[in-house]
Amino acid sequence: MPTTAPATTTASAPVVGEATVGELRGTVRGSVILPGDADYDDARAVWNASHDKRPAIIVRCSGTADVIRAVEFASSQGLPVAVRGGAHSIAGFSTVEAGIVIDLSPMKAVTVDPGARRAVAQGGATWADFDHETQAFGLAVTGGLVSSTGVGGFTLGGGVGWLLRRHGLACDNLVGAEVVTADSRVVRASAEENPDLLWALRGGGGNFGVVTSLEFALHPVGPTVLGGLLFFPGSAARDVITGWRELTRSMPDDLTTLVNLTTAPPVPFLPESVHGQPIVAVGVVHAGPLDAAEDAVAGLRTLADPILDHVGPVPYVAMQQALDPLWEAGAHNYFTSAILDDLPDEAVDTLLDRWWAKPTPQSELHIHHAGGAMARVGRSDTAFAQRTSPYILNVIARSIDGEKFTEDTEWARDTREALAGYGPGAMYVNFTGEGGEDKVRASYPADTYAKLVGVKDRYDPTNLFRLNQNIRPSA
Ligand SMILES: Cc1cc2nc3c(=O)[nH]c(=O)nc-3n(C[C@H](O)[C@H](O)[C@H](O)COP(=O)(O)OP(=O)(O)OC[C@H]3O[C@@H](n4cnc5c(N)ncnc54)[C@H](O)[C@@H]3O)c2cc1C
Repeated sequence: MPTTAPATTTASAPVVGEATVGELRGTVRGSVILPGDADYDDARAVWNASHDKRPAIIVRCSGTADVIRAVEFASSQGLPVAVRGGAHSIAGFSTVEAGIVIDLSPMKAVTVDPGARRAVAQGGATWADFDHETQAFGLAVTGGLVSSTGVGGFTLGGGVGWLLRRHGLACDNLVGAEVVTADSRVVRASAEENPDLLWALRGGGGNFGVVTSLEFALHPVGPTVLGGLLFFPGSAARDVITGWRELTRSMPDDLTTLVNLTTAPPVPFLPESVHGQPIVAVGVVHAGPLDAAEDAVAGLRTLADPILDHVGPVPYVAMQQALDPLWEAGAHNYFTSAILDDLPDEAVDTLLDRWWAKPTPQSELHIHHAGGAMARVGRSDTAFAQRTSPYILNVIARSIDGEKFTEDTEWARDTREALAGYGPGAMYVNFTGEGGEDKVRASYPADTYAKLVGVKDRYDPTNLFRLNQNIRPSA
């Protein structure tokens, strides 16, 4: 039996009475979970173990009506609000101490219209849910590298994935959305209705309301693509990065790659002799015809003598899930990012120095190759405006037990600082592991930021939705 005890809160947040919670329970179809309930600890857990918070109320919404009710409730009770889709926020935005979590995780339906090449995903769907449905028709859109990531948070922040250079960011393919705004209205965003809202949702994060569904334009992909990972010894890192950098200057748009400076995990397909050793992995997906793909990846195979060439024809869905076992929930994580215009040799030296200096083996550096379709979208067409820089650096501090985590996060911040000068100083909100106005402003050019404030003023003037990379309303 769930408890009906009053939701205990800290001094800074209002206490919600038993009768009020009872009313909420009576008006939602999903579940209302409180401290003391048997499923409370499961329900409050998020992917990143660094954020161990105790919400006063968790509403697991089963549809738009529940979301409307939860927003009304949060607003009337003055509770801090966290919105949760796939629960992968690195900064911990999808949980809140003593507030309300609007949890969309039961809302996972994905419907596909193969003729129109469109899919509509509910706000709590993950990329595993999405790819499962769309690949039944040989269709896809740019999704996360780890399939448990939420479609919602990923797309609203931008969305960098294996189809980026061929089909753009996930947000570039967002053509419509249903949004419950701070005043509990249901608003549709599309090119025809509230286009300012659609513009803001394409990169402006969760600032404008709870997105109950997202509609995407789809593209033919696979079902088999050429993809996988090439593993090189750590000692070849300089050759691999500089050789890869040269290849990126003329790569076809069908080919999306990234370089990962990491530590070899103890997986059976890697020789035991390299387990626990520094290793460079080059991740590869070619989204075009298989006969062209082999030629396109040939240069990557000879960057150095590989430990293992694990690139070949693979179902797109399997590629989307290939990294999942390495990124299970429950570790401590902090990401920070820098958008880079170039990787001159001295930047490569700095990257390598920083890599050798990492305090924890699980911490790693990813350099995503951007450009292609992403760069062909106009700078002011979406809230995601950093379009033309060719690389996105993601610095990942990761610790299984959290023991040296302060050291790890400092290492990550210092690494970002050491490299940010090779680009416009910009960050990518989805790879930013903390809030703060400086971080948000660093993620958008000044004119984009000003326009986002205007949209925020229109849809959330009281900043009800502030647990995010927050765009503060002007009032
Ligand atoms: C293991 C892992 C792999 C990742 N891989 C990639 C990658 O390949 N490419 C990339 O670009 N990013 C990647 N990320 C970053 C990821 O895109 C962001 O963390 C994103 O915010 C996660 O979305 P979510 O729905 O899972 O998270 P949540 O924690 O549920 O949500 C994060 C925030 O997004 C907003 N939000 C989420 N859903 C909604 C909604 N329906 N309506 C309104 N607001 C919403 C809210 O502000 C919420 O606080 C990865 C993160 C992790 C942990």
